[in-house]
Amino acid sequence: MFDIEKIVRPNILKLKPYSSARHEFEGRSGIFLDANENPYGIHNRYPDPTQIEVRKLISKQKSITVENICLGNGSDEIIDLAVRIFCEPQKDKVIICPPTYGMYEVVAAINDVEVIHIPLLNGFQPDVSKIFATEAKMLFLCSPNNPTGNCLNGIEQIIQNFKGIVFVDEAYIDFCKEKSLIQLIHTYPNLIISQTFSKAYGLAGIRIGAAFANTKIIDLFYKIKPPYNINELSQNQLIKSLSDYKLFEENLENILIQKARLIAALKVVETVKCIYPSDANFILLEVTDADDLYQFLLTHNVIIRNRNSVIPNCIRITIGNGDETTQLINAIKLYH
Ligand SMILES: *Cc1c(COP(=O)(O)O)cnc(C)c1O
Repeated sequence: MFDIEKIVRPNILKLKPYSSARHEFEGRSGIFLDANENPYGIHNRYPDPTQIEVRKLISKQKSITVENICLGNGSDEIIDLAVRIFCEPQKDKVIICPPTYGMYEVVAAINDVEVIHIPLLNGFQPDVSKIFATEAKMLFLCSPNNPTGNCLNGIEQIIQNFKGIVFVDEAYIDFCKEKSLIQLIHTYPNLIISQTFSKAYGLAGIRIGAAFANTKIIDLFYKIKPPYNINELSQNQLIKSLSDYKLFEENLENILIQKARLIAALKVVETVKCIYPSDANFILLEVTDADDLYQFLLTHNVIIRNRNSVIPNCIRITIGNGDETTQLINAIKLYH
């Protein structure tokens, strides 16, 4: 049986969390002389540390109760909180499956937690038997994966058999046909799903990401997160954006249209050796000379991501709007 208390760092289990003024008194009326705030101004009050209004809206949209949601200052904060809850510095280990999102490794390093690399295999799929043969506190999976763009197969089987916490990063889930694994949090006590409003929701500037997990894990996130980690302006903007679902869908559809258009155009470009299948808002390409193409596109004011150091001669291109896609296509046609 999976016992969360045996997995959590002992100091976090013991921790008596900071209780903010806004947390101890949750009522709305009265004069507030409890938080050393300034009585003057428009942003003079601390924001809701539980972000309850935002979480209620997310709860409706994702069909997940608010008790299963914790918000972070970007999903990058979610990654950091997760590592700090479960991994003891200089003792515990985490598994990452490169090529993947770089922050898992950096967050582990910042927290002095050892990283075991188990590279993705053919088709950029996880090496399941190696993962099961490895002892680690935590496993990071990213699906759809950045920078390869594909969804990972067999994640549920991995969650079911892995002894530690499985962290599934679904930053790009809204771009793909495959369903989110979010409802599996009710089945697996060792699962954390993270999503973000930075990509499909177009809100990278407001820095909000979310962790979805069973309440025992979410309570631990609340125990250690900075009380006012989501500022008032961001909370208000997300509330606004979440109530315009039509705009969200429209933008998403446009991005997918441009993606199809770009892929069709790239198929006949000579320098493009391979267009990897993508479930995200970016595509990974193998080209004849990634460094050279990268420099060439720069001179045409098109900035792409050179991934040559990670996957030989590969570049990652984010899908832009119609004009941006046209500019990119025109520029790459000039390359030879
Ligand atoms: C962009 C990205 C993030 C970062 O999301 P924020 O919410 O903006 O911090 C997390 N994971 C992956 C895989 C990403 O590509």
